[in-house]
Amino acid sequence: EKYSQTLEVLVQTDAMTGLVNHAHGITRLEEEISKAHRYGRRLSVIMMDLDWFKRINDEFGHQAGDDVIVYFSACLKRCSRAYDVTIRYGGEEFILILPETGLESAVIVGERVRTYLREADPSIPRAITVSGGIVECMSDDTADSMVKRADDLLYRAKQSGRDRFLAG
Ligand code: GH3
Ligand code: MG
Ligand code: MG
Repeated sequence: EKYSQTLEVLVQTDAMTGLVNHAHGITRLEEEISKAHRYGRRLSVIMMDLDWFKRINDEFGHQAGDDVIVYFSACLKRCSRAYDVTIRYGGEEFILILPETGLESAVIVGERVRTYLREADPSIPRAITVSGGIVECMSDDTADSMVKRADDLLYRAKQSGRDRFLAG
């Protein structure tokens, strides 16, 4: 019993960061969306991608890049609540699921992350910035449609200069 519980957690976790992994992240988002629909609760999602990350790898090496990913994961944990879901969605792409949270409050969480990153930290070679898209769940949303809208905003945040979150 205990062994199979441990195994389940392992399968759902990104080994490098301890965050929820991509596959389980989608499942968690689907669950949170159906809860939000069923109980008429608010729900927001922040999709993030680290800025100019290739440069970190190129200038300081792949291990330094990994250290930055771990550092950013800890930052996400600190800037969110216990019942928020922090997902490593891809290499240096992350999703934060914020249950019981409207768009305005999600924007505040995003800004908290950006502010946190401005403080110098000895565990990474240089300060990093992040860009993201923030969306709130609508009545006809699915996990796919929410991720798509957040990703479109993330793309626009990159295009318009990075180091920012766009909400819509
Ligand atoms: P942008 O601001 O447009 O996001 O620029 P970028 O350089 O961050 O570009 P992009 O997001 O496309 O590139 C991400 C890079 O992250 C590509 C890949 O080499 C690197 N990467 C992905 N996963 C890992 C990882 O686990 N460790 C390390 N060290 N690097 C990774
Ligand atoms: Mg990037
Ligand atoms: Mg990327």
